[in-house]
Amino acid sequence: MKYPCKLSWNHNSKVANSKNAQNIRPTFESHCISLIASKLHSRYTERMKTVSPVLFSPFTHLDAAFTTRHGGVSHPPFNSANLAFHVGDNPDNVIKNHDLLAAQFNYNRHHLIHMRQIHSDKIIQIDPTFTFDSPPECDALITNHRNIPLMVMSADCTGILLYDPLHNAIGAIHAGRAGALAEILPKTIHAMHESFGTSKEDLYIVLGPSIGGCCYEINESIALECEQKGYSDSLRREKGKVFLAVNTILLQQLDTLNIQKERIEVIEHCTACKNDDYFSYRADTQQTGRIAGLILLH
Ligand SMILES: [Zn+2]
Repeated sequence: MKYPCKLSWNHNSKVANSKNAQNIRPTFESHCISLIASKLHSRYTERMKTVSPVLFSPFTHLDAAFTTRHGGVSHPPFNSANLAFHVGDNPDNVIKNHDLLAAQFNYNRHHLIHMRQIHSDKIIQIDPTFTFDSPPECDALITNHRNIPLMVMSADCTGILLYDPLHNAIGAIHAGRAGALAEILPKTIHAMHESFGTSKEDLYIVLGPSIGGCCYEINESIALECEQKGYSDSLRREKGKVFLAVNTILLQQLDTLNIQKERIEVIEHCTACKNDDYFSYRADTQQTGRIAGLILLH
């Protein structure tokens, strides 16, 4: 299952997805204008480089993107667009990166909700009482409120974005091996049904950049757990080693729910293979930044 996605160097995903856009890279003129504007309004000289899901592009009141490691202000090993506070980066730089992203996607950073992620199946419904400075401890966020951006952060795990256009509801999920095996994806779909009336047939779902079965080596006890839970297809054995494709588990769960393949997009960028573009906990030998999946109802 392979779908195209767009690497965007543009102001935001809507520009990138407009029919007339000739905009994979800025023209010299627009580059000059943006430089002048950046000097006038801030000292940032780069824009965050993001990947825009094609699946969401028809929806005008929705913004969604996955960040890369490019376009921020953090220094190595967090260079440069790290969005996580808990990894040892200078918090002032993390705030600047968040402000850059908020400016690109036209939201108030103080309204953005991220998570203290714990590799669980805990889901929290977000309303305007939540704030940027007090992220809840969980691994999935859902809301039907406009102008509350939801964010999942990752460095190898799969960030998942969900959109129900019928009920104007969104979700953001952090799913590594533990979360996937704990069925956080089907549980979040169920939670959206309970909270907003979402039918699984109404959903559009995007799996973001994550470590692939090409690079994610696991031990035999984890492999046994995957086999016992019915996910043998997610395992690959080669020269005495065993590798896991977490996305295969997630797609199997969506298949079990009979969600149409046309409503699923997989951004097949392995964060370890593409370590120049993404933070990877394994390829970067553990100390590194976090990319983010972002979704927002306007
Ligand atoms: Zn790989």
